[in-house]
Amino acid sequence: MGQYIAPLRDMQFVLHELLNVESELKQLPAHAEVDADIINQILEEGGKFTSEVLFPLNHSGDREGCHHDKATHTVTTPKGFKEAYEQYITAGWPALSCDPEYGGQGLPLVVNNSFYEMLNSANQAWSMYPGLSHGAYECIHEHGTAEQKALYLPKLISGEWTGTMCLTEPHCGTDLGLLRSKAEPQADGTYKITGAKIFISAGEHDMSKNIVHLVLARLPGAPEGSKGISLFIVPKFLPNADGSNGARNPIFCGAIEEKMGIHANSTCQMNLDGATGWLIGGPHKGLNAMFVFMNAARLGVGMQGLGLTEVAYQNALVYAKDRIQMRSLSGPKALDKPADPIIVHADVRRMLLTAKAYAEGARAFCSYVALLLDKELNHPDEEIRKDCADEVALLTPVIKAFITDNAWTATSECLQVYGGHGFIAEWGMEQYVRDARINMIYEGTNTVQSLDLLGRKILMDNGAKLRKFGAKVQAFVEANGTNEAMAEFVTPLAELGDKVTKLTMEIGMKAFQNPDEVGAAAVPYLRVVGHMVYSYFFAQMAKIALEKEASGDTFYKAKLATIRFYFARLYPETAMLIRQARSGSANLLSLEADLF
Ligand SMILES: Cc1cc2nc3c(=O)[nH]c(=O)nc-3n(C[C@H](O)[C@H](O)[C@H](O)COP(=O)(O)OP(=O)(O)OC[C@H]3O[C@@H](n4cnc5c(N)ncnc54)[C@H](O)[C@@H]3O)c2cc1C
Repeated sequence: MGQYIAPLRDMQFVLHELLNVESELKQLPAHAEVDADIINQILEEGGKFTSEVLFPLNHSGDREGCHHDKATHTVTTPKGFKEAYEQYITAGWPALSCDPEYGGQGLPLVVNNSFYEMLNSANQAWSMYPGLSHGAYECIHEHGTAEQKALYLPKLISGEWTGTMCLTEPHCGTDLGLLRSKAEPQADGTYKITGAKIFISAGEHDMSKNIVHLVLARLPGAPEGSKGISLFIVPKFLPNADGSNGARNPIFCGAIEEKMGIHANSTCQMNLDGATGWLIGGPHKGLNAMFVFMNAARLGVGMQGLGLTEVAYQNALVYAKDRIQMRSLSGPKALDKPADPIIVHADVRRMLLTAKAYAEGARAFCSYVALLLDKELNHPDEEIRKDCADEVALLTPVIKAFITDNAWTATSECLQVYGGHGFIAEWGMEQYVRDARINMIYEGTNTVQSLDLLGRKILMDNGAKLRKFGAKVQAFVEANGTNEAMAEFVTPLAELGDKVTKLTMEIGMKAFQNPDEVGAAAVPYLRVVGHMVYSYFFAQMAKIALEKEASGDTFYKAKLATIRFYFARLYPETAMLIRQARSGSANLLSLEADLF
């Protein structure tokens, strides 16, 4: 059933040639010892694990799905999942970038990030089980008390326990201010939590000994809306002081959802019936604490988009070289065959290059942001830490929405390369399309990401974060503007940078008069910013490829061809998007709802 081979060469190009991670990490005392050899070794091992252990379970897991037993409230994951998880924890993978104080290996997030790409390419549904645990780890690490950290972090780091995020309720998803779950304080300092949560990924399963649920609920007398939400740690089994499992906590899985994709990940309805929980992050400060988890998860979802784009591309490429249909318009190319392989056809190449460009752009972008996170956490200079945090905040919604929207396009184009066979389950391509669809929805829909970018991250701080990123783009343009060979890359980057500045000011002015202008412009606006970011990274990668092309290494030739394709065929949608974003709110909002 197809193949997955970790794209080590391109990962190494991004890490070592584009981002120079080794010298960047030298400035961070926590990672000063991490060199290129260590990184490459980890990635090679990660490539083996994901190709050999996880990828073979991807299709079978999708076909089989999870099983729920209503009588015992238990969920069984597909055949092989539990064993693969045991291998994963035995090899120490969950500990990779975690804090050594609690048993982690303390490696940089930028390395973990590349490994996560592999996990998602090989098996997104499986990878969500440990992926959510990492979010829970980050949340408890940042907001937990010393006692909570000592109890929960080592278990999450070892992978013995997994984590979940329990936000959504039947009547509220985007608008968490509406949530109703209740937390009653108890004399012993714990809380009894009652409520119904839905769509909880990995809410119940058989892969780990315990499940640590992070649950949003309201304290008695809490303010209305999002200001009255608190966060609680609610373990499936109440832990004894020594960390062993105690009594079963009444947080049960009532059902699992039948769904379009990620069949092998259990999406659970969770009922809390006076379940014992511990407050984390202070009363009514739940959303603030949960944001750590949500931000980690948003970056993680972007990586899911990248992972699927890459694996769909790899398989479509193999197929396009093998499948023979028709002759090239410019005359036969495979004279020994009755027809040419379909890769000779221009439009098949367009489909392949779309996926290739989106994968390579996303890889550079995500690795860059992961390195920013390492600096935000570990740089000795406080001002640099703050700058990095601002940049991560700005780029997080772009990672989540732009990459997952592109993944939907890319996986669909790769399916199209297979013609009718793409639509047939046996080939595996339709699974990638189905799996890709959820990434645009959960962790805040892509519309919500767009509103976050334009409304909160840009207009609310008068464009300060965007200007800082713009200054980096400008510096690159100025440094390379006189290099003739770079003109084909620098000119569109510079033009788009100017257009983003003007567009932002225009929407900002209109929003003063009418706040609906933000909602009407946000989605195309985010895509324009996404293209500015990709143009910036592609221009930098083009510079390296131009310098090294003469070496004869065909990697650089392929890189340049991909970048030229990007600027010729994908970037031009910015003209249309800018027109859409400028068209205002009236074309959307003037029609009364009852006239639809
Ligand atoms: C498979 C799966 C796994 C999930 N995993 C988890 C999980 O682990 N934990 C968890 O807590 N939740 C999880 N979710 C829930 C998910 O995060 C929500 O479905 C998502 O946030 C959207 O909420 P909703 O479904 O209630 O849609 P709604 O909030 O009802 O939104 C409906 C539509 O309205 C749009 N909309 C809403 N408000 C606005 C606005 N202000 N402006 C413009 N458009 C708007 C939305 O973009 C969307 O298109 C999961 C969902 C699924 C399907």
